[in-house]
Amino acid sequence: MTLKADYIGRFAPSPSGPLHFGSLVAALAGYLDARANNGLWLVRMEDLDPAREPPGAADEILSTLEHFGLHWDGSVLYQSQRLDAYQEALQTLQDKGLIYACDCSRSQIQEIGGVYDNRCRTRALSVAPSGPSAALRVKVADEIIRFEDAVQGPQQQDLMRDCGDFVLLRKDGLFAYQLAVVVDDAFQHITDIVRGHDLLDSAPRQIYLQRLLGYPTPRYAHIPVAVNELGQKLSKQHFAAPVSPESPSTQITAALRFLGMNPDADLAGAPPVALLEWATGHWHIQAVPKLANIRLDHIS
Ligand code: GLU
Repeated sequence: MTLKADYIGRFAPSPSGPLHFGSLVAALAGYLDARANNGLWLVRMEDLDPAREPPGAADEILSTLEHFGLHWDGSVLYQSQRLDAYQEALQTLQDKGLIYACDCSRSQIQEIGGVYDNRCRTRALSVAPSGPSAALRVKVADEIIRFEDAVQGPQQQDLMRDCGDFVLLRKDGLFAYQLAVVVDDAFQHITDIVRGHDLLDSAPRQIYLQRLLGYPTPRYAHIPVAVNELGQKLSKQHFAAPVSPESPSTQITAALRFLGMNPDADLAGAPPVALLEWATGHWHIQAVPKLANIRLDHIS
């Protein structure tokens, strides 16, 4: 990766379906923050879980971004091509004695209140591929991780108490999001992460891994998540409608309102490029509502 700049942002969709309004908002916020800071904006496909990725979904996301005028820099990085890098990072942690195998089931963890109590730390389960089907967890330290979120303000999490040792390699052999995201944010020299509030409580785990692996910690900004009238995050599981290719300007305008902006009336119906230019000039991350989520039916 040769790109280097004072500001490098990214949009990192999981190609589990077409772009919906919630992911459009995340893409737009990241794009505007990068462009307003004269930065680069990269796209990374988080395609680590083939069973959840309908064929063609990644290409569809990319063509929608282009159709909406959200042009990225450089070439798209595909996590499915990066398995060696994740393995290497896992090995680094393993060499430090920080990794162990765990075969606890989700329901066992639910029974103890949902936070893993590190019970397999001392069990010395085999981690051989031929051994029992086991996840690999990283040991957390008994420390509080603190960071400043550009939208949500000061944050802190006690990893031991609130999270416990967490999974880096899943039982099914797939690398976990937490590991892949940290390795790739470092590889792509990401300085600024703008994404949905649903990932706010992942940030401390990611900062912890960055420290263990000797990577810099980027700045974070977690924007509100779009939810339906039942309070559910718009997602494929909740049948969120894909953004419509017919009306990019209307949807960009709605996404700008969601982000606390108020496009001039004379921009009504303007093409995406004009809307994005206006929005880049008027973007202030501090104007984004400091909320976990916003109901879509509350946006005019
Ligand atoms: N791939 C994740 C998602 O689509 C986002 C990862 C990130 O932005 O850190 O929810």
